[in-house]
Amino acid sequence: MIIWADGKESHYLAPRLRGMCPCASCKDEMTGIRVVLPIHIPDDLEFRKIELVGQYALQFEWSDGHRTGIYSFDYLRELDQPGNHV
Ligand SMILES: [Zn+2]
Repeated sequence: MIIWADGKESHYLAPRLRGMCPCASCKDEMTGIRVVLPIHIPDDLEFRKIELVGQYALQFEWSDGHRTGIYSFDYLRELDQPGNHV
């Protein structure tokens, strides 16, 4: 869970967040086409480790061993908009 500076709380489910991974192996950098989709992720996927990257992002390590995705706080906030719920 993230509590933002404006008091808003965001809750994320591991499988959904994993499916939105912004790294180059999950999303093609040239075309922007997502290679790994939430439907490809098992429901029982879990967070294994969460690390702060500088002051701007979080890096998650997942129970499937994937760990190259860096989620900026801007991106995380964007994912928690109404109609785009993670
Ligand atoms: Zn990825």
